[in-house]
Amino acid sequence: MHSLPVLVLNSGSSSIKFAVYEAGDGARTQLLEGTADGIGTDQGQFWIKDAVGKKLTDETPALPTRAEAFALVEQALRGGAFPAVEVPELGAIGHRMVSGGPTVVENQRITPELIDEMEKYTAFAPLHTPIAIYIMREALRLFPGVPNFVCLDSYFHRTIAPMAARMPIPEEYAAMGVRRYGAHGLSYESIVHQLQPRVPERLIVAHLGNGASISAIWRGASVDTSMGLTPTGGLISGTRTGDIDPGVLLFILRKIGEQKTGTAEAANELERVAAKRAGLLGVSGLSNDMRDLRQAIKAGDKEARLAVDQFTWTVKKWIGAFVAELGGVDMLVFTGGIGENDIDSRAEICAGLDALGIVLDAERNKVRGAAVISAEGSPAEVRVIPPAEELMIVNHVVRLMGSEAVGSRQ
Ligand code: ADP
Repeated sequence: MHSLPVLVLNSGSSSIKFAVYEAGDGARTQLLEGTADGIGTDQGQFWIKDAVGKKLTDETPALPTRAEAFALVEQALRGGAFPAVEVPELGAIGHRMVSGGPTVVENQRITPELIDEMEKYTAFAPLHTPIAIYIMREALRLFPGVPNFVCLDSYFHRTIAPMAARMPIPEEYAAMGVRRYGAHGLSYESIVHQLQPRVPERLIVAHLGNGASISAIWRGASVDTSMGLTPTGGLISGTRTGDIDPGVLLFILRKIGEQKTGTAEAANELERVAAKRAGLLGVSGLSNDMRDLRQAIKAGDKEARLAVDQFTWTVKKWIGAFVAELGGVDMLVFTGGIGENDIDSRAEICAGLDALGIVLDAERNKVRGAAVISAEGSPAEVRVIPPAEELMIVNHVVRLMGSEAVGSRQ
C-alpha cells in the first residue's frame, strides 16, 4: 500500500474530535486535528490545528446539537469553508466506539446493518454510544464510497477472564449481554503497542483522566479491568461513582421515585446522579477537574482533600488487587490527563506500595515528561506514557483495509 489518508472520528457526550492521518509503508503522519466541543451550548468551540500544532481556525460557534457540530467537521474536511485547511481525498474513516455490545466484538467495516446491531446496546455506554452511532450514519451518508471501520474500546478487553466478565446476576440478565466490557481499550492497546517489543509479562496500566480505569495485562492481553458494563463502574472518577454498593443506587432510585412518576424518567435521573453528579465532583462539591481540586486543597478545602484522597486510595486498592491477580507486577504505567500530569496523584497512589515492589523516585516523578519514575532498584518499573488511541485506530483501519476478512460478527 502506498499512502492512505485516514480520518479518525472520536466523539464524547459533548464533543467530536477528528484527525486526518497519512498512512503508508509503516509510517503514520498526522496532517491535522480538530475538535468541536461544547455540544448542547450556544457557545461551543471549534478549532483545527495543522501537523505542527499551528491553529488553522479557532471559533466559538453555537452548537445546540450534534448535527451542527458534525456539519462543521464535514465542511472542514471538504475544504473550501476553511481555506487554510487542506485535506486530501479520504481513503478510509475509523470510528472510535466504547462498546459493541455482546455481538460486535471485533473491529470491522461498518454497514447500516452493523450500526443497527450496535444501536441495540446503547444502554451499555449511554453517554457515548448515541453520538457515535449518529456520526457513523452521517459518515456513511456524506462520504459514500469511503470505507468506514469501527474500532472498539471493548476489543482490547475481549480476552478478560470469564470470572471477570460475568456479572453476579441472574442468567436471564446475563443473557441480555450484561457483562464486563471495560473501556479505554484503545488507550491500553496503545500502551502495549508503545512498549513493544519489550512488553513486560505482568503489566498494570492506570488510565486516569476525566474517566478513570485500570487494567491488569498479562503478556500483552487484558485479563481484568476496573470498568464494568458501562464506564460508570470501577474507579471513582471525575463525575462518576465507580463501583458502589447497589443498595446506594436503590436508595437514591426510591428517593427519585418519590418525585418522578415514570420508571424510565426515574432511571434517567439516577443515571445523571451516578454518572454526571458523583465522583470527584460529588464528594468535593466543587469540581470534577483535578487541577481545580489541587488548588482548592492548597487553600485548605477539606472536601476537595477528601475527594482526591478517595480517588488515590481507590486506585491504590485496585493496584493491590491486580498485583494479587497477576501474581506480582513487572511494570506500572500511568496514562491519561491525571496520570501523565498530576505529580501528587502519582506520589499518593504509589506511597506505601513498597511491599508490592513499587517504589517511586520522588525527584524523577517531578520531572515533566519523564518516562521512568521508579527508584533505582525498584522491583517494578513505574512509567508515564501518553496514550496514542488515534494511532491505534489508524493501525486497525490499515490492517482491515488490507484484509477485510479479519473482521467478523460473533
Ligand atoms: P478525558 O477522560 O476527558 O480524555 P483527560 O485524559 O484529558 O480526560 O484528563 C482530564 C483530567 O486530567 C482532569 O481532571 C484534569 O484536571 C487532569 N489534568 C490535566 N492536566 C493536568 C495537570 N497539569 N495537573 C493535574 N491534573 C491535570
